[in-house]
Amino acid sequence: MAAPLVRLCGKLQVGRYLPRPWTASSWRLQHGGASATAESERAAAAGIPHPPLQFFSEEEIMMKEAVKKFAQERIAPLVSKMDENSAMDETMIKELFEQGLMGIEIDPQYGGTGSSFFSSILVIEELAKVDPSVAVLCDIQNTLINTLLVKLGTEAQKQRYLTRLSTDMVGSFCLSEAEAGSDAFSLKTRAEKQKDYYVINGSKMWISNAEHAGVFLVMANAEPSAGYRGITCFIVDRDTEGLHIGKKENKLGLRASSTCPLTFDDVKVPENCVLGKVGQGYKYAIGMLNEGRIGIAAQMLGLAQGCFDHAVPYTRQRVQFGKRIFDFQGMQHQIAHVATQLEAARLLTYNAARLKEAGRNFIKEACMAKYFAAEVATLTTSKCIEWMGGVGFTKDYPIEKFYRDCKIGTIYEGTTNIQLTTMAKFIDQEYND
Ligand SMILES: Cc1cc2nc3c(=O)[nH]c(=O)nc-3n(C[C@H](O)[C@H](O)[C@H](O)COP(=O)(O)OP(=O)(O)OC[C@H]3O[C@@H](n4cnc5c(N)ncnc54)[C@H](O)[C@@H]3O)c2cc1C
Repeated sequence: MAAPLVRLCGKLQVGRYLPRPWTASSWRLQHGGASATAESERAAAAGIPHPPLQFFSEEEIMMKEAVKKFAQERIAPLVSKMDENSAMDETMIKELFEQGLMGIEIDPQYGGTGSSFFSSILVIEELAKVDPSVAVLCDIQNTLINTLLVKLGTEAQKQRYLTRLSTDMVGSFCLSEAEAGSDAFSLKTRAEKQKDYYVINGSKMWISNAEHAGVFLVMANAEPSAGYRGITCFIVDRDTEGLHIGKKENKLGLRASSTCPLTFDDVKVPENCVLGKVGQGYKYAIGMLNEGRIGIAAQMLGLAQGCFDHAVPYTRQRVQFGKRIFDFQGMQHQIAHVATQLEAARLLTYNAARLKEAGRNFIKEACMAKYFAAEVATLTTSKCIEWMGGVGFTKDYPIEKFYRDCKIGTIYEGTTNIQLTTMAKFIDQEYND
């Protein structure tokens, strides 16, 4: 049988990959041959030179809509069970790959979807509206793992790993250690050079998606005498001898997302498994986390919006004192306040993503987006429980899960204090002259 054709970004590819719902051709077919007119294009045609941040391109609209549908139909029925069992459903992971959501920015020549960073942000937001654990699986793969390999990989590394990362292999990002959290570059894991290979010894903590990962991008110091300038990024396959994946953490939230410790016991990796240059790992990690923070902002934004979308309809139905609880001014003011915070978080997140895509400075804005979206998620989920009274406190509604899941937003990919410190550095510099 002929291999399916996948058309994306103007490229025609013959491949083993499944046709994805938002490829321009399949979307048009589904919609009776009509083309979605990009809001941004319509704005330009109407003489609006700078379209609002929430105007999207045709591809962005298609991805957002397709992922929304996928999340509601395929993920929502599994969320509660995955949370209770602290386990990601394997078929869910398979479907994320089939939908092209694990290689969003990877070029179709390596089996990816060939889309943009902004599309990844919209996808993460839509997934998090339904399950923040699924969103972080997709987020880490797209904003950290794939990006590092796309930017730094040799052709052989790309052929070997990007083709798998876009189709069937999860990757994990391994920086943190027991003694190296916020102070990540004090890491103790060592990589000793011997002939044409390195021997890695040490341990990592808090490694997301480690339970299912086929490959680990590991930061280890190859020249400890040079301090953090010895930190190097290694590609380590799961089945490498001496790599042990520990028992997953029993967490407050994000329970379906595995978080595991790793130990490296004389792990031998050939020198062609160095990603990028020896001693540049700290730069790569900083660069990736700067981008990754926009992904976490999108996760927190989606989580907060998903929670709000469950709670507001309830307030419009629940009757006390003979009227809808939504009709009490005390409730209306709180709901309007949270809606405004959500809008502000969305604008910060989209602005940081658009700045990054435009090649402009975005680090301060990414920190602001992540910091603020995590705060908004905390406020929103807490308020939603209050608005729903007793039932908001039960597992009959997803609100209590969103409330537990949101806490991680103030911790990973740089704690809230670290975001604020970074922002302050930029603000200080801005007033130098
Ligand atoms: C669920 C989960 C998933 C994770 N996934 C990954 C992953 O995939 N890969 C990975 O490498 N890591 C991962 N992490 C690790 C995460 O990035 C770290 O937990 C985070 O960087 C904070 O480090 P820490 O936990 O050691 O806290 P600490 O650094 O000990 O911080 C504790 C407190 O001290 C404050 N603090 C520390 N230093 C300063 C300072 N200079 N100024 C002001 N306040 C400060 C912090 O803000 C925080 O409030 C994950 C963590 C969790 C919980």
